[in-house]
Amino acid sequence: LSLSDLVEAHRICVCVRKRPLNNKEVTKNDIDVVSIPGNGTLLLHEPKQKVDLTKYLDNQVFHFDYSFDESSTNDLVYRFTAKPLVQTIFDGGMATCFAYGQTGSGKTHTMGGDFSGKSQNSANGIYAMAAQDVFSLLKQRRYSSLDLCPYVTFFEIYNSKVFDLLNKKAKLRVLEDEKQQVQVVGLQEMYISCAEDVIKMIEMGSACRTSGQTSANANSSRSHAVLQVILRRRNQVHGKFSLVDLAGNERGIDVRSSDRQTLVETAEINRSLLALKECIRSLGMDSHHIPFRMSKLTQVLRDSFIGENSRTCMIAMVSPGMSSCDSTVNTLRYADRVKEL
Ligand code: ADP
Ligand code: MG
Repeated sequence: LSLSDLVEAHRICVCVRKRPLNNKEVTKNDIDVVSIPGNGTLLLHEPKQKVDLTKYLDNQVFHFDYSFDESSTNDLVYRFTAKPLVQTIFDGGMATCFAYGQTGSGKTHTMGGDFSGKSQNSANGIYAMAAQDVFSLLKQRRYSSLDLCPYVTFFEIYNSKVFDLLNKKAKLRVLEDEKQQVQVVGLQEMYISCAEDVIKMIEMGSACRTSGQTSANANSSRSHAVLQVILRRRNQVHGKFSLVDLAGNERGIDVRSSDRQTLVETAEINRSLLALKECIRSLGMDSHHIPFRMSKLTQVLRDSFIGENSRTCMIAMVSPGMSSCDSTVNTLRYADRVKEL
């Protein structure tokens, strides 16, 4: 194996993170059906029949680059997933990190930090930790001479429409020129002078994201949120890190009882997640045909799927409960496909 093979092999990293059973699940006597023996392995004890749970457990084994169990912290997950990609953008590459999984599996907790309860703590999310590392690398001598300027954007994609989370959810147009360069027109790109600036923007954008929501089917779980850290050099993009909190991929949406809006949303989410899988796979195969036009999500991330120095990481989040089994199987199969070339 040559060095370049090794580098190639690490262009796509796929891992899985299991969250602990929550109080609601414990109260309902939900059973933990996911175990993480380590070394990237995950075991799913899927019930074959729902009659006698103890007798009909069907063990399925999945292998990923890393697997994180319910005791792992955001900090640990960060160190193995997004942290190595910070270097990529300093070296002039494109990096992306995706949080994938059903609603409630821990995507926002991992990316944005813990927003539950009163102790809002976005400093322990991957967004903030990546920003901190960007600033520590900026100070290193080998990079300080490059005159790199950091900026941040934060937007949401809902039903194929783009909304600026740093500008009161302004609706934005996406344009593609004849060179296939994609531009989000009017997207606010904020200059940042320290990691605290980024944390302020994460909090502002996250509040904007969830404002005006009441139902359980809140838009925030039905939309993709994208935080980008952009390094500019003489006004040109030198490197870009996109951190994406994807829309929930839940299974079991009842077609008969759902309203039209929910069906349209679901179809759109499925389409964009399919497109994402195909685009990441073509990155891994060095394919020249990248189907980025299949969805708005992949279209706005086009830059990240091209170029020799693009790297991506996907963290598949799973809920441990038996009640989530269908969605969990779905998530694990998807993650498996992304990785398999
Ligand atoms: P998602 O964004 O995938 O819909 P959230 O990140 O909002 O899910 O997580 C749902 C709930 O579970 C939140 O209250 C969150 O704080 C909690 N949670 C998620 N992951 C973990 C974890 N690893 N440890 C503890 N609590 C978690
Ligand atoms: Mg969320």
